[in-house]
Amino acid sequence: MTTATTPPSPAAPGCAGADAPPEASATLGEFALIERFFARAPRRAGVALGNGDDCALLAPAAGMQLAVSTDMLVEGRHFLSSVRPERLGHKALAVNLSDLAACGAEPLAFTLALAMPRVDPVFLAGFAEGLFALAERHGIDLVGGDTTAGPLNLCVTVFGQVPAGSALLRSGARAGDELWVSGTLGDARLALEGFRGSVTLAGEDFESVRRAMECPQPRVALGMALRGVASAAIDVSDGFVGDLGHILRRSGVGARVELAAMPRSVVLARQPQRLQQECVLAGGDDYELLFTAPAARHDAVLAAARAGGVGVTRIGRIEAEAGVRIVDAQGAALPLRWHGYDHFA
Ligand code: ADP
Ligand code: MG
Repeated sequence: MTTATTPPSPAAPGCAGADAPPEASATLGEFALIERFFARAPRRAGVALGNGDDCALLAPAAGMQLAVSTDMLVEGRHFLSSVRPERLGHKALAVNLSDLAACGAEPLAFTLALAMPRVDPVFLAGFAEGLFALAERHGIDLVGGDTTAGPLNLCVTVFGQVPAGSALLRSGARAGDELWVSGTLGDARLALEGFRGSVTLAGEDFESVRRAMECPQPRVALGMALRGVASAAIDVSDGFVGDLGHILRRSGVGARVELAAMPRSVVLARQPQRLQQECVLAGGDDYELLFTAPAARHDAVLAAARAGGVGVTRIGRIEAEAGVRIVDAQGAALPLRWHGYDHFA
């Protein structure tokens, strides 16, 4: 653990440690809590050594590149304090796996850096349950981390592997490619509006969009199946228009998007048009894959979707002219007033 305090000099009283104050809580110290909630023996090939030593050791298969991504969740900014700990554990890992999915990488392992104001065994047990349930579904190990006192803040780093040279990147979209998205967009934003009280949703409707917000399903199998098929990919985390913009700028192209084709849930489809547009185009927290593929690979995309166990929808086309053009069902262009989420804007 790293702390901001200066360690006592060797001559200072208490330096032997016996009368040093407990680090985390009188009942459950830092190492006991790691042992109880987070220490599990690694089980998969590719992890040579898990947590407990100074480093974990990863051994990607021959010919593979290591894919690495980090995402942090901060209370009040990325999640509400009302979220159940199981769901928070799920989401902390899910948003990271979504980045591996967007690269077409196979997950191997992850680390967890955790700051929390106090040791709350009920919170930790729930959090670990949600975290490990998702980890087990993807067959990956928690191989290390850091645990400290502080405002609630969760940072997961994921490690995956991808055959050298075949990661899906943002830069590969070409004019003429079809533009696709997995699943549906906008439910997480609708749930946020429900929490804010700007919309009123019936009980089961609210539960279903709340699940989308709190329990996103990373599209890992789809991402892997799209290797060699998609020309570019990104996961939609900060809002569709902003994330599409990342592909377009990196690829030096533009896009035409058919608003009516954009997939939305039945709950969102019952909302006023303007709210639907806002949620679908600029929602955020969707964790679906947005990708491009040559028109000639249309059927291969559909096969990848079947292999990935999730629906995909063709929503537009890549064009040479820069910028995003969103058109309605009649082909008329909509004024573009949406942009991606920016923490500092
Ligand atoms: P160091 O000070 O050498 O970095 P720590 O005392 O922070 O080690 O952690 C001890 C061991 O426990 C390390 O192997 C570390 O990776 C692991 N660890 C710490 N926190 C967590 C956590 N939240 N989840 C999983 N492993 C953890
Ligand atoms: Mg450490």
